[in-house]
Amino acid sequence: MNSVSVAVIGAGLAGLACARRLSIDGCRPVVFERQRAPGGRLATRSFEGATFDHGAQYLTVRDSAFREMIAAAAASGTAARWQPDWPGGEQEHAELWVGTPTMNALPRFLARDLDIEYATRVTRLARARGGWTVIDDKGAGVTDFGFVALALPAPEAAALAAMHTPLAERVGAIPMAPCWAVMVGFEGPVQRIADAGFTDDAVLPWIARNGSKPGRHAPDTWVLHASADFSRREFDAPPARVQTKLLERFAGRFGQRLPRILLADSHRWRHARVETPLGEPFLIDPAAGIGFCGDWCLDARGEAAFLSGSSLGAAIGAQLSQIQRSGASGKMRGER
Ligand SMILES: Cc1cc2nc3c(=O)[nH]c(=O)nc-3n(C[C@H](O)[C@H](O)[C@H](O)COP(=O)(O)OP(=O)(O)OC[C@H]3O[C@@H](n4cnc5c(N)ncnc54)[C@H](O)[C@@H]3O)c2cc1C
Repeated sequence: MNSVSVAVIGAGLAGLACARRLSIDGCRPVVFERQRAPGGRLATRSFEGATFDHGAQYLTVRDSAFREMIAAAAASGTAARWQPDWPGGEQEHAELWVGTPTMNALPRFLARDLDIEYATRVTRLARARGGWTVIDDKGAGVTDFGFVALALPAPEAAALAAMHTPLAERVGAIPMAPCWAVMVGFEGPVQRIADAGFTDDAVLPWIARNGSKPGRHAPDTWVLHASADFSRREFDAPPARVQTKLLERFAGRFGQRLPRILLADSHRWRHARVETPLGEPFLIDPAAGIGFCGDWCLDARGEAAFLSGSSLGAAIGAQLSQIQRSGASGKMRGER
């Protein structure tokens, strides 16, 4: 058992899994999260009475530890199977899980009992002999962390760690693609099309009838995701222009006039999906007292983020136990 305090930066799936694992191992994780709620890219936006999962669309499950977590969330009512009408879709060979009643219910479930400082954007890390200090954008610092776990998209993690470990260079070289997401609610149903679909469309590769997910109350709501190429090209475009382009594409793809739009919004994900993952579950620099986790280590999927975070948590726990054991035996030797 060790009681060292660990700063976990980021409360997405990776950071939450890392913090839960550290708690199990007897460490004291404190999570710092820029937003006012957990989840990161497992996100939900609510407006005008409707909700939209504008980040991750669903979770697929391959690993037994992830399955166990999803089963616990399902038992608590915060996750359920999504069974869209999706001819030829992935549901034929995989089960699709979503948070209920909204995607971000799942990270909220994982965040229970954790010590999380919300609305705290970490801008700097400082290391002194006593340990790490985590400094936020208001200049406030929290000190005395024995280890720091960076659970952020790779480019953001690299920027924070640049002064502290040579690993930052490897992390900074991991490419992550942006994604424009458009959320739209129609007056009536969009007829004769499936609830979800991937295509090789150069602009609009993914559409989903958000309202077909379990527990959603606005049936005629859709989420449209733009391709990485389009999102890169139009990264600085005004949101209204992006909405227009994606809606034109949506209508064109099905050769029909869309029902009247009642509500629409958009979101620009700067680091949506890893393009070439690291290929290792996490990175750790024990001498510097810093580790990295996130989906970008393994795959552009929520499950990968969870597994990466859990394994980094276990590695930090093991590292700290070892330090404590050698410290204790050193003291005993000194006492003799
Ligand atoms: C458009 C889109 C569609 C996707 N579709 C799917 C899908 O269908 N299925 C699937 O499995 N996966 C999908 N994904 C990928 C999935 O969302 C991610 O793999 C997963 O959520 C990543 O989790 P993470 O914890 O690694 O990172 P994140 O979720 O990005 O978490 C990082 C957290 O760190 C916080 N943060 C950032 N900077 C700071 C800072 N300086 N200080 C404090 N906090 C900070 C952020 O606010 C965030 O909460 C999709 C992603 C996107 C964007």
